[in-house]
Amino acid sequence: MCCGIAANSLKTLADKRDIIIIGAGHNGLVAAYYLAKAGLKPLVLERRDIIGGACTTEEFHPGFRASLASSAGPLSSQVVNDLQLHGYGLELIQTRVHVAALNLNGPPICIYEDAKRTADELAVHSKKDSAKYSEFLSCFNNIGRALRPLLTMTPPNLDAPSKSELWDLGKLGWKIRGLGKKDEYRLLRYGPMAVADLAAEWFETELLRSLVAARGIFGAFAGPWSAGTSAPLLLQAANDGSPIAPAAFVKGGMGALSDAIAKAATEVGTEIRLNANVAHVQISNGRAVGVVLGDGQEIPAHAIISTADPKTTFLKMVDAAALDPSFLQKIQNYRAHGTVAKVNLALSALPRFVRLGADEATEKLSGRIHIGPDIDYLEHAFDDAKYGDFSRRPYMDITIPTLTDSALAPGGAHVMSIHAQFAPYKLNGYAGVSPATLSTPEACVPVWDSRREELGDAVVNTLSDYAPDLKELIVARQVITPLDLESKYGLSGGHINHGEMSLDQLFAFRPLIGWARYRTPIENLYMCGAGTHPGGGVTGVPGLNASREIIKDLKRRKT
Ligand SMILES: Cc1cc2nc3c(=O)[nH]c(=O)nc-3n(C[C@H](O)[C@H](O)[C@H](O)COP(=O)(O)OP(=O)(O)OC[C@H]3O[C@@H](n4cnc5c(N)ncnc54)[C@H](O)[C@@H]3O)c2cc1C
Repeated sequence: MCCGIAANSLKTLADKRDIIIIGAGHNGLVAAYYLAKAGLKPLVLERRDIIGGACTTEEFHPGFRASLASSAGPLSSQVVNDLQLHGYGLELIQTRVHVAALNLNGPPICIYEDAKRTADELAVHSKKDSAKYSEFLSCFNNIGRALRPLLTMTPPNLDAPSKSELWDLGKLGWKIRGLGKKDEYRLLRYGPMAVADLAAEWFETELLRSLVAARGIFGAFAGPWSAGTSAPLLLQAANDGSPIAPAAFVKGGMGALSDAIAKAATEVGTEIRLNANVAHVQISNGRAVGVVLGDGQEIPAHAIISTADPKTTFLKMVDAAALDPSFLQKIQNYRAHGTVAKVNLALSALPRFVRLGADEATEKLSGRIHIGPDIDYLEHAFDDAKYGDFSRRPYMDITIPTLTDSALAPGGAHVMSIHAQFAPYKLNGYAGVSPATLSTPEACVPVWDSRREELGDAVVNTLSDYAPDLKELIVARQVITPLDLESKYGLSGGHINHGEMSLDQLFAFRPLIGWARYRTPIENLYMCGAGTHPGGGVTGVPGLNASREIIKDLKRRKT
């Protein structure tokens, strides 16, 4: 017995890992690549039986596969190039149409890769909007270029910025000065503005205003009249130069992207273990020293990185006694109330859409599809969520990936993936029960379980106005509620971005002021998921930034 213990202890010591990464989401895998490239041997522990986190391709009905959570993303070109992802099977699909806003009363509004074609077609709706379009694009392109360095910058230490941080901020300020007065003032004004006001400043066509505003509220607990909803457009422009919608789809769905990143990471020495749920982080004298898995297995490590969201990390995996009460309270107050539901449809054929000829449908529907005719429609959809209900007429962002990647469904059949807003995590199931009282996941379960199909019906009914034969073509329907996003994908509050991307939770405030530099109050415990700067979306940048900071710390410690 005694010898057994000794042998185990020796084994434990021998097994001490350089670095453990909790979660095989795309950010964790990107971080693993950079850390392995720096000579470390990362071990990635993933609770699910597949990698990718919110970036997966999964079968939801026999023969029908889809990116069940995220559909497309502005992956950082630096990450694509550093990891040489094209060499690991990544194939991006660039569509000529970025987004089509469907219209019951006229032709759709399409935003094409080709700006001139977009402006020409906009003239059908408004000559003024058509004339404004190229200035709109170049303004956001300009601002996006100036802000881009911010994305890969580690947020500064606000209390005591270092010389190099001040230098970086100075360079950024210089770039902003370089925008010229007009765009510089626009940038300063836009950040806190309601996106409905921004859209109205540029355009007069309601459908176009709604299309612009939708980017500001995608994934947010906010309506177009909420303050600060223009900021996501600036962030979007910084990511890929376009304020409205990226259209880089991945052949094989988003899971193919995660697979490519995982291959790049394993090739340089990363080990990935599936079905490995981290129950808690072991802490000794204020330092993270290892993790304990759900089955009781202990794995010691020199450093640990959590890619789980901030609430999961600090409220579920770390012992509260190891954290300062004020830090704990701030994490409890970190806002992560999900509002997105995903509805995936298996269709026997492509539906017919009103005001869209069969000959043009394949091209015009190949990017994102926007449903939301005007600003009031979007605001009303949000109103429902504010009072604890889901929208009967939801704002929708849709993709039909089979139009460009037919292998995702049997011959001639299609997949339609619908991002539906608003579906609040805290659903008010019964008259008189306020959402505030439904504060725990347990309290939400019965409500969402009994109303899941009602939500699916609201989505399909709304969409049927645009595609009258839709219902006849549905072979199968999957409704993923925010509660499912929490239980299946591990997202606290079912929030798709690991927490609101509002001004008070961005950059040096993400997740918290004082703790936005990928480090945590627990020594050797780091964060690198979408709950860190620059936030949610499939960019890989939180993983890139965090690995750089961790490598710096480890080198410093060595010397
Ligand atoms: C429904 C939905 C739609 C979206 N649509 C888009 C979109 O169209 N475009 C876009 O750019 N972004 C979209 N997003 C957002 C984007 O997908 C996320 O911001 C991004 O994928 C987050 O990546 P991540 O690696 O930081 O975290 P995640 O992908 O959340 O990965 C975290 C990983 O940690 C694992 N984990 C958690 N706890 C533990 C534990 N205790 N032990 C072990 N493992 C654990 C999880 O299982 C998960 O695999 C969407 C997200 C969702 C959910």
